[in-house]
Amino acid sequence: MERLWAPWRIGYILSDKKEDGCVFCNALKANNDEERLVLYRAEFSFIIMNLYPYNAGHLMVVPNRHIDSPLKLTKQEQAEMFELVNKGIEAINRIMNPDGFNLGMNLGKSAGAGIDDHIHIHIVPRWNGDTNFMSTVSDTKVISEALRETYKKLKEVIR
Ligand SMILES: [Zn+2]
Ligand SMILES: [Zn+2]
Repeated sequence: MERLWAPWRIGYILSDKKEDGCVFCNALKANNDEERLVLYRAEFSFIIMNLYPYNAGHLMVVPNRHIDSPLKLTKQEQAEMFELVNKGIEAINRIMNPDGFNLGMNLGKSAGAGIDDHIHIHIVPRWNGDTNFMSTVSDTKVISEALRETYKKLKEVIR
């Protein structure tokens, strides 16, 4: 378990340079999906790419409402978020051919949550032997260029 959850801690350290307000609420309001890396919008939730990915194709499924616990999700939100998790997995499968996935939520700072007041489900594609990704792609510019590329590819195939 330790290893499974370690990735989010890396994201937490890297995402320390925060903008004002909630990044998810800001992205939702911005109406600039490409800039904000919002991949897909549904009725109650949306898919956004992680700016500080653990791996290429690291996505997050986020409810539109700014809530801090899955206990506050309505049944409709729960159902739709799981549909979006599946959409994300399908899109990643189409273009990236991963060997596996980590899916998960970190609830609270003690659990490694970088953003603990707006819940989200992480979708992280995994490849055999990918554990050194962050050290090989640690240059921020390389990451952001790769992110834009991946965004375009995923945007084309997400249904
Ligand atoms: Zn929010
Ligand atoms: Zn998180």
